[in-house]
Amino acid sequence: MNHRYSRQELFSPIGKAGQQQISTKHTLIIGMGALGSGSAEALVRAGIGQLTIVDRDYVEWSNLQRQQLYTEEDAINRLPKVIAAKSRLTAINSSVEVKAIIADASVEELEGLAHGVDLIIDATDNFETRMILNDVSQKLGVPWIYGACVGSYGISYTIIPEKTPCLVCLLENVPLGGLTCDTAGIISPSVNMVVSHQMSEALKILVGDFDSLRKKLVSFDLWKNQFSEIQVDRLKKSSCQSCGTERTYPYLSFENQTKTAVLCGRDSVQIRPSVLIERDLETLERLLANHEGVVQRNPYLLSYTVSQHRLVVFKDGRVLVHGTKDISEAKALYHRYLG
Ligand SMILES: [Zn+2]
Repeated sequence: MNHRYSRQELFSPIGKAGQQQISTKHTLIIGMGALGSGSAEALVRAGIGQLTIVDRDYVEWSNLQRQQLYTEEDAINRLPKVIAAKSRLTAINSSVEVKAIIADASVEELEGLAHGVDLIIDATDNFETRMILNDVSQKLGVPWIYGACVGSYGISYTIIPEKTPCLVCLLENVPLGGLTCDTAGIISPSVNMVVSHQMSEALKILVGDFDSLRKKLVSFDLWKNQFSEIQVDRLKKSSCQSCGTERTYPYLSFENQTKTAVLCGRDSVQIRPSVLIERDLETLERLLANHEGVVQRNPYLLSYTVSQHRLVVFKDGRVLVHGTKDISEAKALYHRYLG
């Protein structure tokens, strides 16, 4: 038990003092898919003090190939990812305080969750969330580490408020691959490589060694054996709406953020009610039992299968409609069965 962190303490840039630092820090991870699982496990093993994990989804069979925290049992039980992750993470290191949030990382959610946090890890699969995250980071002065991967490709960059350009500055100048919703598939080594880049930067930030940060945008393609680093400091713009001298934080004020979204690489649409309200899943189960179709429920979500569609209802009112990419068809199913 006492020797738990001995190898990490022997690593001189961390040492006993650094280890002490790590144990007092709080990190927020947005998304608990492949990147989120890898980062969460690395941080928990490294002895982070507190970890908050946020995800809107539940475990499916297609996740098991690369999302290292999850098991077949989690997929069979359709456990929300953060619930399955928390139990695995706590089994790995019981001294870490892990907070699991089942939610869509919307503006309201993110701003609240990022308060008082030392570092944010981007493990989302969509650009809308990253833009919100970027503004929250600038507004609260919390560093964040961007990461994305698709196929055998991956990319990462560390954003330090007041020091480096932000994601908006970069977007206007650098083609950031791997950002679009893609059905090209993915292999786990690309995930692990992005996680390695994100986590080495995370450790530097957590021990306060800012001089050692990479300061470059890194990208790679493991199948094509390509690596590249781009120096991007000069891309910081004083006119940037997110990190410049006169900021408006445009992505925090978008009241018209999409309430429906086609999920990345999946035959699914998410519908988010404009006001999140707690749904009584037990009552809903009774109501749906009068319809044709199959209802299943666990403490976190209700799943309703009817013909080739499946509707998954979360307690916060969100609904995933599987079996279509068509938003109006998804809405029609939503209104027919869920009011
Ligand atoms: Zn900027």
